Amino acid sequence: MLRRELTDDLLAADARYLWHPYAGMPNALPVFPVDRAEGVRLTLTDGQELVDGMSSWWAAIHGYNHPDLNGAITRQLERMAHVMFGGLTHQPAADLAERLVALTGADLDKVFLCDSGSVSVEVAIKMAVQYWSCLGKGAKNKLLTVRGGYHGDTLAAMSVCDPVTGMHGLFSGVVPEQIFVARPEPSFGAPWNDEHFTEMRECVERRSSEIAAVILEPVVQGAGGMRFYAPEYLRQLRRLCDEQDVLLIFDEIATGFGRSGELFAAVHAEVWPDILCLGKALTGGYMTLAATLATTRVSETISSNEPNAFMHGPTFMANPLACAVALASIDALLLSPWKKRVHAIESQLKDELSPLVGADGVEDVRTLGAIGVVELSQPVDMLVTQPAFVDRGVWLRPFGKLVYTMPPFVIEPADLRQVTSAIVEVVEKHCCG
Ligand SMILES: *Cc1c(COP(=O)(O)O)cnc(C)c1O
Repeated sequence: MLRRELTDDLLAADARYLWHPYAGMPNALPVFPVDRAEGVRLTLTDGQELVDGMSSWWAAIHGYNHPDLNGAITRQLERMAHVMFGGLTHQPAADLAERLVALTGADLDKVFLCDSGSVSVEVAIKMAVQYWSCLGKGAKNKLLTVRGGYHGDTLAAMSVCDPVTGMHGLFSGVVPEQIFVARPEPSFGAPWNDEHFTEMRECVERRSSEIAAVILEPVVQGAGGMRFYAPEYLRQLRRLCDEQDVLLIFDEIATGFGRSGELFAAVHAEVWPDILCLGKALTGGYMTLAATLATTRVSETISSNEPNAFMHGPTFMANPLACAVALASIDALLLSPWKKRVHAIESQLKDELSPLVGADGVEDVRTLGAIGVVELSQPVDMLVTQPAFVDRGVWLRPFGKLVYTMPPFVIEPADLRQVTSAIVEVVEKHCCG
């Protein structure tokens, strides 16, 4: 068959059978058929190449088809693709856990490997609740979080997403009710004022007898609004949680592995949580894998009280292929000049997105690490903007009022320039006035 016919068949089958993320059936928006990907380029089935500005949702930090990552999977595949983790163990899981513990701070020493970011958040929430239950404080079973957050799409994870963008109304009565305070202020780099922390302080002080843990994304709020806030907020929060006997959970699923300019966003604040969620870039975007790290205090409390076990166990827990590629990805990251690259991306984004500062229809332009965000005053018309970006040879996926990029760290300046000029052109042409 001709290539064109194959593509038509693919698109017809897709339209007929497949759900896409946050989409209807049939999908109201066009989807673009990818044939292969290499470095920072996606190649569509018609041969068109797109420079990737999304890292497949924060994950593909080394780009695509990376020889070391391919090799790690291939070698592991020849030994075994998967074995159950109940009663069995293997080298890739042990090596990955040891590596994650070494890279993170405080005494985040115990690692639960699971399937996806949302599941790692479920695991974190269950750990916090089970911890207090083990201590005879079962009333401490609520989560406190900030508005503007995003923690995943499963029900407990949804319960701590922003109530509006997380669509709590649609699922009311099913999504557990949690406690919310205003989103963290001030923005990253703005001067600190203790008043920014008053609501959080008062809420924790008043309700600590009901609160198992505070959960939030450190420094960078991702899919809930792409906002960057002052690390001082996290220092204050760490102190408050210690004073009030409340656990602290950081969701670093988006920020982990260098995205914000530090290896973890927690490093900006120099504080660590009691429970830490990692995912997305953990495998360099190759496979679905996430990790929930906990302190020895949390793990010992859970393990030394009835039922003497943490009550979670996914079928594909610690998948060996995923663990092997995660190790290769971490090695590739740490052996690369990642920090220099991320800082260079940050300066280039700042520089090249600056024509949009103060432009008609643009509310804000902000950058942190390898993240560039243009916030508009009106929601983007995806029917127009998505093909407009593809026409300009870049892959970007705006949502709501946000046009943003978080490219692979290995992107060359000329390719990044193609991404930023497409953003400037498309925003000026389609989103202004
Ligand atoms: C993407 C994301 C999740 C959910 O991860 P999935 O792998 O999509 O389930 C949770 N928290 C944050 C901060 C994320 O960015």
